[in-house]
Amino acid sequence: MFDKILIANRGEIACRVMATARRLGIRTVAVYSDADRDALHVARADEACRIGPPPAVESYLDGKAIIAAALATGAQAVHPGYGFLSENADFAQDCATAGLVFVGPPADAIRAMGSKSEAKALMERASVPLVPGYHGADQDPELLASEAAKIGFPVLIKASAGGGGKGMRVVGSAGDFPAALESARREAASSFGDERVLVEKYLTAPRHIEVQVFADAQGNAVHLFERDCSVQRRHQKVVEEAPAPGMTEERRAEMGAAAVAAAQAIGYQGAGTVEFIAEGDDFYFMEMNTRLQVEHPVTEMITGQDLVEWQLRVASGEALPQSQPDLSISGHAFEVRLYAEDPQRDFLPATGRLHHFETPETSAHLRLDSGVRQGDSVTVYYDPMIAKLIVWDHDRASALTRLQGALAATHVVGVTTNTAFLHAVASHPAFAAGGVDTGFIERYAEDLLPASEPLDDAVLALAALAEISAVEGEACGKAAASGDARSPWFRTDGWRLNGDTQRRLLFEAEGREFAVDLRYANGSGIEAAMPGGGVLKLRGEWREDGSLRADLDGRIFSARVVQQGNDFTVFHAGASHLLHLRDPRNPDLTGVDEGGQLTAPMSGKVVEVRVEEGEGVEQGQVLVVLEAMKMEHSITAPQDATVSSVFFSAGDLVEEGAELLSLELKDDVTRD
Ligand code: ADP
Ligand code: ADP
Ligand code: MG
Repeated sequence: MFDKILIANRGEIACRVMATARRLGIRTVAVYSDADRDALHVARADEACRIGPPPAVESYLDGKAIIAAALATGAQAVHPGYGFLSENADFAQDCATAGLVFVGPPADAIRAMGSKSEAKALMERASVPLVPGYHGADQDPELLASEAAKIGFPVLIKASAGGGGKGMRVVGSAGDFPAALESARREAASSFGDERVLVEKYLTAPRHIEVQVFADAQGNAVHLFERDCSVQRRHQKVVEEAPAPGMTEERRAEMGAAAVAAAQAIGYQGAGTVEFIAEGDDFYFMEMNTRLQVEHPVTEMITGQDLVEWQLRVASGEALPQSQPDLSISGHAFEVRLYAEDPQRDFLPATGRLHHFETPETSAHLRLDSGVRQGDSVTVYYDPMIAKLIVWDHDRASALTRLQGALAATHVVGVTTNTAFLHAVASHPAFAAGGVDTGFIERYAEDLLPASEPLDDAVLALAALAEISAVEGEACGKAAASGDARSPWFRTDGWRLNGDTQRRLLFEAEGREFAVDLRYANGSGIEAAMPGGGVLKLRGEWREDGSLRADLDGRIFSARVVQQGNDFTVFHAGASHLLHLRDPRNPDLTGVDEGGQLTAPMSGKVVEVRVEEGEGVEQGQVLVVLEAMKMEHSITAPQDATVSSVFFSAGDLVEEGAELLSLELKDDVTRD
């Protein structure tokens, strides 16, 4: 076995590989770009080497820099993770030439499967079933069109070199074929530098079922059963599970044998995945991914095996740790991919700093593979996947309940994520029934992506309680200063200590305003007059774990409210709600340093710049409007001043802490 390896990747998969290496007593070397100097994968490694500037082509895709780092640190092997260089045959070859072991299949096996067309031709010879279609070398448009007609519409055009769902076009009729072909070719050429395509029968309600295979240098090959990855959006996986719902022993054996035959046909070694598309009783080979897959943890959960350990053993020349009869399935596992993206805006990737990142406690039932910590930033440079939640239980229904619970206990503030969307998927009756096809998300889009989460009284009341508690926190501080023991608890009736008996809280959420009128009711807590006309009795206390125990008219529950200045994020019933408190006593938080520089309080987009250089402004005047976390934030002048420079204009994206404009403060003049 190796005693030192380099991990040529970042994020969750780099951390995941390091965890196994550490358990096996193998030292680890991380590589990082300038954007990742303080990243989790760097902190987790025994040592780390800088490989270049932030863009991936100049760092994580720079094979030469990575090989140089491995040689300089004395690593014996390179684990490529997934993505980046993991399926780059030249890189695998260059590692070998440099005397490093590439933890993956031989370069020839990567090449054999790198083209979907050639892979299909190979599989045809190995008698693995294929989707009806054309995967020949002749790329004449007329020929492709006539092949499409032979197959029968609808057909799917796929980039031979494709991956990640790119370069695919569904074509419904012969008339649409020429234009679709042209656009698929363009996308293929720009994404993969190769415009060749294949044409397949487009199955209208298929399931994606893939088989994990493993082979060693001694000629042994096994499969570790299947994963069902049918929950997809734009042909990309969102939720994965193992085993596949409804799978029979007979079919499992058949698919497993076909997958092992596929691996053996190309002299495979290491971990690989054979992807099949299944409809009715039929299944067809789609492609083989010659690397560890994002969703490998569900297989680990049901088999009790560590696939990264298997990879390292095989790469160091050992035989497979287990043979086929030793392997069996226990229970059921799900994985969800937590992305920094905004489902309400067509899943646009999101960036920003993770002000609050809270995940449920891990156990034998819950695994978290994460690449970030609270306080870290998600940047524009890399894939927006930030973590994976994996659950396991004895049967599918119990595992699904755990998945829902785990998602409800996942709280992210500062970066928009797909957590609520995943919770909606995990809670959908059609998904609970099992065996959905790849059209599931599109079919139920209205259920899964509600136009806007209804803002019910409970959410408003929770934000109100959190705001009152902040006031009470000041009262606590006063008590502490006077010598009383400070308690982490607060009682809402203490709110009156501030001298108020009535207060109106004006919240902004989802582009609307909501007024909550609070009244201190002597001896019986607080009465809140809600916007809908109802009156609720509120009580609450913070627990030591930071959660809020709220009593709303006798209904008691535990919730999480995270406050950042005047923004409250309320996590309630699997969804999160952002409310902005309009507080005249406490204007929007804006960083103003002594030199009169105004910085962005959070990452976002400049919507409007209302002033020009040289303009005189008054205290409180709105200077810039920033859109962040789905809301508009006004940046106002802290005092009377003259604008000396403006650094951004409308439409620009700004990072948290970026200097927006600088002011010459009137005060400075008098002080001088
Ligand atoms: P990629 O390299 O992007 O992963 P795949 O060939 O694996 O490309 O296809 C990605 C997804 O597209 C599949 O998981 C499946 O949902 C869908 N897909 C692929 N081929 C077909 C087909 N012939 N009919 C219907 N859907 C398909
Ligand atoms: P799978 O078939 O294993 O699900 P995908 O093609 O969906 O594979 O996922 C691989 C993709 O993951 C890459 O194409 C890339 O976009 C993304 N990726 C690559 N490296 C990382 C990383 N370190 N962290 C998160 N995502 C990554
Ligand atoms: Mg695929």
